[in-house]
Amino acid sequence: MKKLSQSVSYEVKDGVAVLTTDNPPVNAMSYHVRQGLVDGMEMAQSDEDAKAVVIHCEGRTFFAGMDITEFGNPDVPDSPWITGVIEAFEGSSKPVVAALHGSTLGGGCETALGCHYRVAVPSAKLGQPEVKLGIIPGAGGTVRLPRVMGVQKALEMMVSGNPISAGQALAVGLVDEIVEGDLLSGAIAFANKVVSENRPLVKIRDSDQELEEARENPAIFDDFRKSIARKTRGFKAPEAIIQSVEAVVRLPFDEALQNERRLFDECQNSPEAKAQQYFFFAEREAKKIPDVPKDTPTREIKKVGMIGAGTMGGGISMNFLNRGIPVTIVETTQEALDRGLGIIEKNYASTAKKGRITEDDVKKRMSLLTGSLELEALSDVDLVIEAVFEDMDVKKSVFEKIDKICKPGCILASNTSYLNINEIAAVTSRPQDVIGLHFFSPANIMRLLEVVRGDQTSKEVLATCMKMGAGIGKVAVVVGVCRGFVGNRILAARMRQSDDMLLKNAMPQEIDRVVFDFGFPMGSFAMRDLAGLDIGWERDKTPDKDTNIRHQLCTRGRLGQKTGGGFYDYKEGSRTPVPNAEVEQLIEEVSRNAGITRKEISPEDMLKRMIYAMVNEAAKILDEGIAQRASAIDVIWVYGYGWPTYRGGLTYYADQIGLNNVVEDLERFVKEYDDPELEPAPLLRELAKEGKSFRDFVRLDHLEA
Ligand code: NAD
Repeated sequence: MKKLSQSVSYEVKDGVAVLTTDNPPVNAMSYHVRQGLVDGMEMAQSDEDAKAVVIHCEGRTFFAGMDITEFGNPDVPDSPWITGVIEAFEGSSKPVVAALHGSTLGGGCETALGCHYRVAVPSAKLGQPEVKLGIIPGAGGTVRLPRVMGVQKALEMMVSGNPISAGQALAVGLVDEIVEGDLLSGAIAFANKVVSENRPLVKIRDSDQELEEARENPAIFDDFRKSIARKTRGFKAPEAIIQSVEAVVRLPFDEALQNERRLFDECQNSPEAKAQQYFFFAEREAKKIPDVPKDTPTREIKKVGMIGAGTMGGGISMNFLNRGIPVTIVETTQEALDRGLGIIEKNYASTAKKGRITEDDVKKRMSLLTGSLELEALSDVDLVIEAVFEDMDVKKSVFEKIDKICKPGCILASNTSYLNINEIAAVTSRPQDVIGLHFFSPANIMRLLEVVRGDQTSKEVLATCMKMGAGIGKVAVVVGVCRGFVGNRILAARMRQSDDMLLKNAMPQEIDRVVFDFGFPMGSFAMRDLAGLDIGWERDKTPDKDTNIRHQLCTRGRLGQKTGGGFYDYKEGSRTPVPNAEVEQLIEEVSRNAGITRKEISPEDMLKRMIYAMVNEAAKILDEGIAQRASAIDVIWVYGYGWPTYRGGLTYYADQIGLNNVVEDLERFVKEYDDPELEPAPLLRELAKEGKSFRDFVRLDHLEA
């Protein structure tokens, strides 16, 4: 075996040159990989012992993409670039076969497309996830992929950014053969077959039959645009991918390639891509807890107990059942239990009806679910999650009981949205095992999990819950104890602004419009109509009900979507909010009752008041150490509340605006709208004064803890 670079080696096996890359952890295409591959191809061309070439990777995957640590690093040589590697493969005088396993992604997938043939193990996945970083495949992916699988399928794959399985890849011609058993031997055997059968050197660049359909039916592009419009609103890369593929259909290969490059550069230099790339790292960072090292011991979660089979209890349970973990749900009455279990089964049945899981899956999952009316049924579980009513006394009484019932080492978690975890932990004999696990609704779908670290929560319990969260597909973010934790506390700050503007300045549709246009899926009032206006209405302590718009709507039976109207009207079967003139009159009347003369407000100020109030709250949260770092707040808002990723995140956005500008506007709002709540937080003022950003803020005491 000959070493060509620090990561690539060359040897001839059974008459085939094998170029093996070993660049842990994911065989990213770093400079030394590219150089080794190009040198290896040159060697193979003149090697009389080699009739073909196999490109193979050690470790857990074929090339999983480019080396992102090299991006923007001036010390890394430009040449050979990935396109040079692809040209070396495609231009080879001997057949080149890619042997795929693991995740063949991004530049890795484009590299595989440069080979004449591709074989894969059944578990392999292939994908072009660039769109998730705000860019498009930039090494021929948009130009070659449609030539293999047709325009429609290629667009779907590149615009979703989601990988396809080896089986799907075989069906669309992206893979030529599935190798059962040892991949390298299978790839060598395949290469020898290509040679002995005298098969052609298939260069994807030369074939364009698959483009024919789109040439005859150019409407395919606009139809596709319409089909993704809602999901990709505000993002730049999906449209750039479509434009590139449109050009592929029209232009010769090399011109299309140049066009792809131009669109790639445009995307790469856009604020959207910078924001998305920032967010990519923010999400990774969220997993790190400064004082809880990676090797902190964790406990095994083999059985879960759920208390409460309501909206949250049911949804949370599904996460575990989906992963084959048995769940026991405890309720207070048979009726509530039957209802809860029934909803879970109905949910699974409807997913099966859509073809996303099989009937067999439904049976398996339901067989892991047990219901009980006795907390004693939880004596042998490893984790209990309480999701009963949001009432401190009820929660305390539940925790007192389970503390006595659950085995030592069992983690006792609460799904509370607002309550103090320390207070709950204090009623148990094991506060070190108590933690908050704040799931979001619908809990079987929403990715965010706020992991609430109590004063006494042990590192082992925290590490276990972070691992468990990732294991059930959640994005787990550590937060500290305060009312509403990070997400809901910031949401409350935005709601206070929208409520104040509703009373003094603008109608629900005007306020919601700016939030929607900013990139959120919906505004505050549409969101409240969705959740139901009566949540917490009974407990609403507002002294003067005449000046409370929610109260006025609720007493009129306008409880939101479920009653056909709340802040808006909803036509039967529709979720589209329609403004209602009577509601507008009611709002004006409430303002009059409160002695308020309504004043116009510009959309710019509306947006700034809501967003900057959130930024201000974020600064307080950071200062108090409730979030570990600014980027954690951004991850929470993207995954929990639909903050548009192409704007990076709340604190990233504020940094782009400039914290001094945010402070200046907040000071103006305090005066203009007579709102002391918008008084800039001390940390915000301090950072602004020093010309710093949220990214400069690191709580050292946290790191030293
Ligand atoms: P829910 O009213 O739908 O369900 C609560 C269930 O708990 C009911 O079925 C009730 O019968 C049961 N219950 C009450 N006391 C019990 C006891 N002592 N033992 C066993 N079961 C008992 O409420 P939900 O919306 O599922 O909320 C539950 C918790 O989750 C609350 O703390 C809430 O703040 C939190 N939460 C809710 C949401 C949401 O959007 N609904 C989101 C995140 C967190």
